[in-house]
Amino acid sequence: MTTLTILDAVPAGLLDCEARNLHALLGSPTLIELPGRSGAPLFVSALIHGNEDSGLGAIQRVLRRFAGAPLPRPLMLLIGNVEAAREGRRKLPGQPDFNRIWPGAESDIDSPEARTMAEVHRRVIEREAFAAIDIHNNTGRNPHYAVLCVKDARVMGLSSMFAPKGVLFRGLPGTQTASFSGSIPAITIECGQPGREENAQAAGRFLESVLTLAELPSGGVRGDEFELFHTLVQVRVKSEIDFSDDQNRSWLRLEGGLDRLNFEPIDGGTLIGRTNHPMPLEAIDEGGRDLASAFFSVDGGELRLTRSAIPAMLTTDERIIRQDCLCYLMERLQVERS
Ligand SMILES: [Zn+2]
Repeated sequence: MTTLTILDAVPAGLLDCEARNLHALLGSPTLIELPGRSGAPLFVSALIHGNEDSGLGAIQRVLRRFAGAPLPRPLMLLIGNVEAAREGRRKLPGQPDFNRIWPGAESDIDSPEARTMAEVHRRVIEREAFAAIDIHNNTGRNPHYAVLCVKDARVMGLSSMFAPKGVLFRGLPGTQTASFSGSIPAITIECGQPGREENAQAAGRFLESVLTLAELPSGGVRGDEFELFHTLVQVRVKSEIDFSDDQNRSWLRLEGGLDRLNFEPIDGGTLIGRTNHPMPLEAIDEGGRDLASAFFSVDGGELRLTRSAIPAMLTTDERIIRQDCLCYLMERLQVERS
């Protein structure tokens, strides 16, 4: 079921429910609108990708912390893909990606899921939310970081409250953060790998601190250590490429442990994998152009990076590579400090 359920109280059992069992409690994407002492609501979304459970853990932590007491400000909580969460998957086969169907999306715009997200979007904008925070996890090893679509002082300040790293990315069409950017301060927080208590705790601490803020910091980033990166390209493996080296087909075998390179500057010449294809990757920039030949080369069956770059979300998990991408390549940007 994909119709939106709207609740005005925390349903019994939510605080102790695991992501896998939420479907029995909620059944469909659910928006929980809770009152608070004053001010505009904070909008938080979790499980937009069903296997990424830190957001649920963070929400449970915040609700437990304020149990029996009024919230400092109203809260709008979206719990997204409970059907995929049941299977521990990003999305189910046949479902659109719940983070590609928000207003501004280019595909699946007539799907019931897109209508559901549009309804949430309308309600959040109508209430002039304080901020929108979308909570995700990565498959590979990555530090915690925020993703922001605009280089705005309040958005930068919000990002630096979560982690000392931020990625400026105009966003793929239809991501939640892109859909709110320009209307209300919006960020995605990437909380490392799912299934780890410390990641849910970090997200929960961040939500608590945002909830208790009277105003967003308007002076930009906090502290000296905040680093801002800019996404140059999203790197995908071409759909005709196999991951096992069957000599009759086009294949790519990635080097092991590549995800240890996330957020590390890597030099031109770094070996990415071996292949029998002239160029198994595409590297798409924000304008939709394929720049693979500017970033990669294949020589003697060796796929290498040809210029220095900083990867993020680099993963060797085949399913995630198919459903999302191999990685993003980034450069570092200067940060003005207040
Ligand atoms: Zn995600």
